[in-house]
Amino acid sequence: MINLDFDLSQDEKLFKESIHEFLSKELSPIWIKMDSERKIPTEVIHKMGEQGLFAIAVPEEYGGQGGNFLLAALAVEEVAYNDPAVATAVFTLLNNSWPYILYLYGKEEAKQEILPIVGKGRGFFGIASTETIGGSDVAGERTTAKKEGNLYKINGEKIYISGVREALEQLDLGSWFLIARTGRQEDKHRGLSTFAFIGNKNGKITEGLEYSILNTIGRHAISTGLLHFKDATIDSNHLIGEENKGFYLAMQGFSIARVLVSAANIGAAQWALEQAVKYSRERRMFDDKPIASFQGVSFPIAEVAAKIEATRLLIYKSAQLADKIFIKKESGYKPQDLNYWASASKIMAIETAFQAIETTMKTYGGYSYTEEANVFRNLLGVLSYLVGAEGSQNIMRYIVARELIGREYVKGE
Ligand SMILES: Cc1cc2nc3c(=O)[nH]c(=O)nc-3n(C[C@H](O)[C@H](O)[C@H](O)COP(=O)(O)OP(=O)(O)OC[C@H]3O[C@@H](n4cnc5c(N)ncnc54)[C@H](O)[C@@H]3O)c2cc1C
Repeated sequence: MINLDFDLSQDEKLFKESIHEFLSKELSPIWIKMDSERKIPTEVIHKMGEQGLFAIAVPEEYGGQGGNFLLAALAVEEVAYNDPAVATAVFTLLNNSWPYILYLYGKEEAKQEILPIVGKGRGFFGIASTETIGGSDVAGERTTAKKEGNLYKINGEKIYISGVREALEQLDLGSWFLIARTGRQEDKHRGLSTFAFIGNKNGKITEGLEYSILNTIGRHAISTGLLHFKDATIDSNHLIGEENKGFYLAMQGFSIARVLVSAANIGAAQWALEQAVKYSRERRMFDDKPIASFQGVSFPIAEVAAKIEATRLLIYKSAQLADKIFIKKESGYKPQDLNYWASASKIMAIETAFQAIETTMKTYGGYSYTEEANVFRNLLGVLSYLVGAEGSQNIMRYIVARELIGREYVKGE
């Protein structure tokens, strides 16, 4: 029997509404200020934590909210709608994806040390994967983790890492899901391990860690930076999963994160759509007619609305699949099943968001090109995902093609 119900449950609707209400008071009035001042105020992160916006899928006994990924997707969508430059959405989505992988595969000490603090909005647990050799080639990463007694010594460099300043300067705890090589370079993905690397604890930067911040062009309120490791140490109880098997855990984290990235982009797209609708009603010309009366203006808006609706359903379906796989652990599902859906969601969400913003800018005309219109902040935030953040659009297409057509036919390297 086919049982399709595309509606959210009453509880899910209430959850979304309560977050919307909170963010419309706490975030929406300050998103432009945050973007222009290049900072998420620490108290905003604290308040978002108190509202239960982080570690939503992590069980309550580890300081999470005991929810699921559909709720996390609803939360991230609302955050991006209320901060369409997507800085706080980046912070929220990272702290809803990677903490869950730590919860699933980490050792008790690391889980107890990190998860409750992240859940409260007093800490950060992001992803440190990309290196200068090319973020698409995870299997080629060169940062090393050498075991010495109970410690691993880390050497190397990670680039384009989100949340560096927030993690290391603003919060009580700054940490990352770090991918590093414990095996030989020629072993490629089979030589990678994953760690819960703590870079800042109560204001003290871990010895051997240096960092710098990049001058990025958008989503200014959250920083993007480099992490340099020079004999930085990690306790062996912060190894996540087994040595040399970290690649597979990282891929699970990327898939979950991509579902939430998609939710962020559709929230940002919804904001853009609503600006276009409003402006098309208000702007009048040619005998005082609203520009919405010209099909050249209203049809592109209609097309964007249709794509947003379709993409939102795709994202919710992917989030529900993540719940079946990771939370309910339903039989017949395995982590790899999410790859196709998460990547398909990201292809659609980012390209739909981009089309939405382009349409809004064309609807605004020359006004869109002024700082005052603020659409450029939305454009530059979403652009980060079009150019590569959380995996490039080509890599998303490669994953969908590989899962659909077959690994033996589709070569990615
Ligand atoms: C704002 C921002 C924040 C980020 N935050 C983080 C973070 O927190 N943590 C983190 O680890 N990384 C982060 N990244 C890095 C991001 O994951 C990478 O940008 C992404 O993986 C692409 O890597 P790259 O930029 O090195 O591009 P490259 O890998 O050099 O790719 C360049 C181009 O070649 C294409 N390409 C490469 N290989 C293939 C292939 N096999 N088939 C087809 N096309 C291919 C890509 O699609 C891309 O268009 C962030 C990036 C940005 C822009």
